[in-house]
Amino acid sequence: MTMPPLDILLCAPRGFCAGVVRAIDAVEKALAVYGPPVYVRHEIVHNKYVVESLRRKGAVFVRELDEIPDGDSPVIFSAHGVPRAVPEAAASRRLFAIDATCPLVTKVHREAEVHHKRGRHIILVGHAGHPEVIGTIGQLPQGAITLVETAGDIAGLEPADEANLAYVTQTTLSVDDTREIVETLKARFPRIVGPHKEDICYATTNRQGAVKRVAPLVDALIVVGSPNSSNSQRLREVAEREGCPLVRLILRGEDIDWSLFGDIRRLGVTAGASAPEILVEEIIDAFAARFSVNVETVSTADESVFFPLPRGLRGQAAE
Ligand code: SF4
Repeated sequence: MTMPPLDILLCAPRGFCAGVVRAIDAVEKALAVYGPPVYVRHEIVHNKYVVESLRRKGAVFVRELDEIPDGDSPVIFSAHGVPRAVPEAAASRRLFAIDATCPLVTKVHREAEVHHKRGRHIILVGHAGHPEVIGTIGQLPQGAITLVETAGDIAGLEPADEANLAYVTQTTLSVDDTREIVETLKARFPRIVGPHKEDICYATTNRQGAVKRVAPLVDALIVVGSPNSSNSQRLREVAEREGCPLVRLILRGEDIDWSLFGDIRRLGVTAGASAPEILVEEIIDAFAARFSVNVETVSTADESVFFPLPRGLRGQAAE
């Protein structure tokens, strides 16, 4: 039986960013140097496949520090960052804490801190409940930061001093939505200060850029990633906005609903910053079992960002 042809346009850049590579390497290095168990507060990155494979190697994922017994085992904080109270609690219990917060998230924490020191109230553009947002808000005393999720939220803001306002943003937002929100903020509060660009990181920007190029060219687009991954959800939205008729966020090959993909001739594939390439290959293999596939990479940016391992792991030799 001859299989129908399918052109797969593979977005580049896609998948792991430098912050995710660093966080996963941190857990693996800690396991190699100190041996299991290595405790990890929250999912180290938002991907079940990654979490499960680290769990099998001896990582123990916890929600809060009080689930960790006293002792010498390391506890690693996830790439999304943590409220200040978390390292403080770890220090008071003399836990061996290793902070795998992405340096680009830490940069936002430092920006917020500087604004606060200068007496500015801070507007954080981000999604309520996301660990990164919880971590950023938790850098400063309660009430120092107000969260804004949409441009519509801005009309309801009533700052005590409009002349002393600053904004920061979550790193994994939609570039286009955030531009609109920042413009609305600046229109309402002309003296608000903020970063030179927004705080959206290079990886989020580049992955969205590649999807923008590919989405108008294909009948369907798959984002490989987890539903709780903010940057993966944004990739799905970008593809939908660019007019791609069928867009699905899929974790594994087994999750593909084949009733949707029967008639397509061109498929776009990308992956969120926390999705490993092996899952992209799994998805392509699943299509290759049903179609005669031709894979072409569409590259819109080069990436060479690298972050060294967190303190406490640099220069440590494995046992
Ligand atoms: S998506 Fe951006 S901010 Fe988040 S871990 Fe990756 S590089 Fe860091």
